[in-house]
Amino acid sequence: MWLVGAGPGDPHLITVRGLELLRAADALVYDRLVSPSLLEYAPARAERHDVGKQRGHHRATQDDISAMLIALARAGKQVVRLKGGDPYVFGRGGEEALDLEAAGVAWEVVPGVSSALAAPALAGIPVTQRHVAGSFAVTTGHAGLAKPGLAHADTLVVLMAVEQLQAIVRTLLEQGRDPKTPAALVQAASTPAQRTIRATLGTLLGAAERADMAPPATLVVGQTVALSEQLGWFERRPLFGRRVLLGRTRTEPSELAALLAAAGADVHELPARGVAPLCVSSEREAAAAALRRLAADAYTWVLFGGADSVAGTWTLLDTLGLDSRAIRARVAAFGPGTVEALHQRGVHPDFCPTSYQSGAVAADLHEHMTDAAQLLLPVIEPMPRLVDALCVAGVSVDSVAVGRVEIHALDNSRRLRAVLGPPGPDLVVLAASRAVDELDALLRANRGQLGTARVVCIGPTTADRARALGWRVDDVAEHPTRESLVDAAIKLMSDRVPAGASHV
Ligand code: SAH
Repeated sequence: MWLVGAGPGDPHLITVRGLELLRAADALVYDRLVSPSLLEYAPARAERHDVGKQRGHHRATQDDISAMLIALARAGKQVVRLKGGDPYVFGRGGEEALDLEAAGVAWEVVPGVSSALAAPALAGIPVTQRHVAGSFAVTTGHAGLAKPGLAHADTLVVLMAVEQLQAIVRTLLEQGRDPKTPAALVQAASTPAQRTIRATLGTLLGAAERADMAPPATLVVGQTVALSEQLGWFERRPLFGRRVLLGRTRTEPSELAALLAAAGADVHELPARGVAPLCVSSEREAAAAALRRLAADAYTWVLFGGADSVAGTWTLLDTLGLDSRAIRARVAAFGPGTVEALHQRGVHPDFCPTSYQSGAVAADLHEHMTDAAQLLLPVIEPMPRLVDALCVAGVSVDSVAVGRVEIHALDNSRRLRAVLGPPGPDLVVLAASRAVDELDALLRANRGQLGTARVVCIGPTTADRARALGWRVDDVAEHPTRESLVDAAIKLMSDRVPAGASHV
């Protein structure tokens, strides 16, 4: 049984240890502040217990939660109790630990990145700074501020701040803090919804009211708050505050989504898809035969075009009683995600084409192959253009399905509604003609409208497909690469007020 800190909101801010435990969990017990996408890392079979939700009118009490943890642990399950931020920072983690200890259940704590540190950091506020702030204190709106001394820590971090902002500010002024002291309120730190208002103790209340700040928010008071203008990189990223609908063509989370998110965008990749094993027996036999031929040295090259085709291949190898040693061919892979998936299985590709266009990939590959190359292409979805281009380049290709795509219509309707809901998407990013087709089908099936969203495409083929379906295309990337597509997206957004923006 592990009490695990989930971090402040961004799922990437969980610790490596926390993620390892999550991936191996049989049962999850989590709170309101834990990011839903973090839960997706747990195995599908794991039980999920939301104890933060309003059940009827009351939440699960602390006693209910402890009793649940003890019962799950006694049933022999690997239980992960996920708590927002750090479990021991105003999260009642200490109480749960005492209950587990008293019940004789084995438990450990995995610290997390507390919002008490993450909220100031991501708003551009160092909690200590040489010559400016040599101490900081963390408390909540409910307690402590009136105690002698605490209000005078150089930097004061107050959790649960919006609910009692007025009382907090009054107490600080009564304790003698200067009304001119810089103060910032940081809402939903580390998430695409992060917002920071900067003021002074004297002007904070008015500013918070005008900005309509809502929980979860953290108050930071002290001289280093003034550095926030200079150091507030998070909210300055070029796509920060933009809701982006990204047409999905792969089953794995795409590298393009990661690039857009790194630029600050709130990315929604649709339609969501999963990979399932082949169900048609003739397809299964064809794949098995191809993999046996691979093991028998019949191919000179094997090309992986996605991490999911790597996963599908290894799953099939396993069912045939084979493993990595069956890959008796040189290995080519495109995309960093594919290379990573191969690395995880101990395989280092011999060659990685640098382009994503079928023709260029084929030409690149052909250059690296000896004459009469026999290439195996394991796929989840057919890649007809690549196969054609390889044939034209004189390569003999066997393309076999090693899994199939599964699309959950209901789940996708729900996700689409979330993206199209007010204030709607700012931008639609299309990186393949197939992405246009699938997004178009999804929108039609759900009678969805894109509103005022701008549309950007990776190249002329994708743009033509979009126009043929009646879409307005606002821009096309200068080069057919993901980086260039992200640049075009940034350019398109640079003159536009975010749909969800409110001015402070
Ligand atoms: N254990 C948690 C804190 C729980 S108390 C931790 O270590 O972070 C809940 C309070 O934490 C909220 O009222 C808010 O003040 C703060 N908080 C949690 N997530 C936050 C976030 N993403 N941004 C700003 N404050 C946050």
